[in-house]
Amino acid sequence: MAQQETDEQVNDGFVVDTEDCEARELAYRERGTARPITVVGNPVLHKECKDVTEFDDKLAALIDDMFASQKAAEGVGLAANQIGVDLKVFVYDCPDDEGVRHTGVVVNPVLQELPAERRILDDSNEGCLSVPTAYASLARPDYAEVHGQDAQGNPIKVRGTGYFARCLQHETDHLYGYLYIDRLSKRDRKDALKQMAEGTPRYETVPND
Ligand SMILES: [Zn+2]
Repeated sequence: MAQQETDEQVNDGFVVDTEDCEARELAYRERGTARPITVVGNPVLHKECKDVTEFDDKLAALIDDMFASQKAAEGVGLAANQIGVDLKVFVYDCPDDEGVRHTGVVVNPVLQELPAERRILDDSNEGCLSVPTAYASLARPDYAEVHGQDAQGNPIKVRGTGYFARCLQHETDHLYGYLYIDRLSKRDRKDALKQMAEGTPRYETVPND
């Protein structure tokens, strides 16, 4: 208990998502069932999801299924519309730029605008379970903050660096109807779709009509 209080103080109101990651992730996914992943072209991925208003057992069960699906597809983040659910929820299990693992869930996330001096762009490779087998370099700020709610509806703040910052931005984008390929040049987008067409996902996907 004392440790928790200390962490919260030094964490400046940001959620502590680096402790007991293995046990927490396992508990979620053992309660849940993996579902197939929607892919680019499925309408649920290309529109803004609905705000969550009911913080009930149904939401908790959705989060369990999202952790199970994320693990089955070997992802580091997953948005609800990637398993076909039109609600603003994402889960993550992702290392930051120091290799520290972050595990958690954000409901109704809003990405915070950064002051210019914090916008240091990193052009690492990015991929998405909904664009299977494709990767492309995409410049994004190497630091991100997301404000939202936890599964009980309490306000939370999450922040991250490096790959985890990329994840927070990528997953929030999903819930507003954007895929990372929507942020690429026409040529790079076309190349990513070609990679996808030529590859075979290692996890179950939802066929598009
Ligand atoms: Zn994605």
